[in-house]
Amino acid sequence: MINLTRGVPADESFPLEALRECAAEAVQTDVLRYGDGYGYRPLREYLAQSHGVGLEQVMVTNGSLQFVDLLGLSVLSRGDVVLVESPTYDRTLTLLRRHGLVPVGVPLEADGVNLEAFEAAVREHKPKMFYVVADFQNPSGSVMSLAKRRRVVELAEQYGFWVLEDSPYRPLRYSGQPVPSLRELNPKVVLQMSSYSKQIGPGVRVGYMLGDAEVLKPLAKAANDTYISAGFTGQAIANAFLRRGLLEGQLEQLRQLYAPRLNAMVAALNQHLPGALEAAPEGGFFLSITLPEQHTMPNLLAKAAEVGLNLSDGRGFFVNPSEGERFLRLPFCAMSEVEIQDGVQRLAGLLRG
Ligand code: PMP
Repeated sequence: MINLTRGVPADESFPLEALRECAAEAVQTDVLRYGDGYGYRPLREYLAQSHGVGLEQVMVTNGSLQFVDLLGLSVLSRGDVVLVESPTYDRTLTLLRRHGLVPVGVPLEADGVNLEAFEAAVREHKPKMFYVVADFQNPSGSVMSLAKRRRVVELAEQYGFWVLEDSPYRPLRYSGQPVPSLRELNPKVVLQMSSYSKQIGPGVRVGYMLGDAEVLKPLAKAANDTYISAGFTGQAIANAFLRRGLLEGQLEQLRQLYAPRLNAMVAALNQHLPGALEAAPEGGFFLSITLPEQHTMPNLLAKAAEVGLNLSDGRGFFVNPSEGERFLRLPFCAMSEVEIQDGVQRLAGLLRG
């Protein structure tokens, strides 16, 4: 079976030896106590200093996805509209809905959301928030252009909505030049979250947010009311890893491991499905293709299973599932080059057959 489904880090990317040493250093009395809802203070201090923000503008949780849940429990109210890219990260959609929030999709292009549609949606729906994965988006692989980022934060300021910038893939750039983050363009309107899941390992469960102190205060209260304090053991291990200066070397290793896999995926698509790939991403975990018109998801998934291929149902990434009938996300990081070749070849066979 070839799994072209889950976008997870490769097992061989985990810096096991270094983490064992960090864990030995990290497990101290302060880590074993309850703490406040903001997260492990030494890690917050490290992040505050490295990003040039105040301590009250940094919060750390059990992975970054949890922020969406905490926002739903505190800052956002049932019925609030949250604009999302269409397609967007499926788990965020699930969480928004769980809290009675109303996700409204804005069509995504190769360089970010369609601005006309975005402006129209802002005027029509008066959103409280725009959730965006601006760098190497999950699921499409797209990166938002600088011009679009500028316009988005301008509109956020003008119309008074928050931008929730989810950037777990931002450091994983394999070629080309980084675009300034939305937070860098306007820290007043942006809540930026990131995570060590893709940089160290998801099991440490450490995600963080940089944002307005007045928003973080109710988030920390919601966290405190929900789980008292986060898993400080993982946070302290990440803290030791960062303070030893190990992250940059780890990121370099990841780039060396993942870049050839991305290249293999692009080459396989160009060979077996010429024209299917609109633009090759320069980083991240995913790329995506649009299936030829005659194909629909249920059909394709069933046929794929018959040839030992697991595919993600594209409909899950859309507010209106029918729009994802021909959308296929292809992860490449946790697969060998041979598996990538084989998987794309099987896929091409199905699409031709
Ligand atoms: N946001 C995006 C866009 C993701 O792709 C993921 C992981 N798949 C997450 C959030 C969740 O990250 P974490 O493990 O930090 O909760």
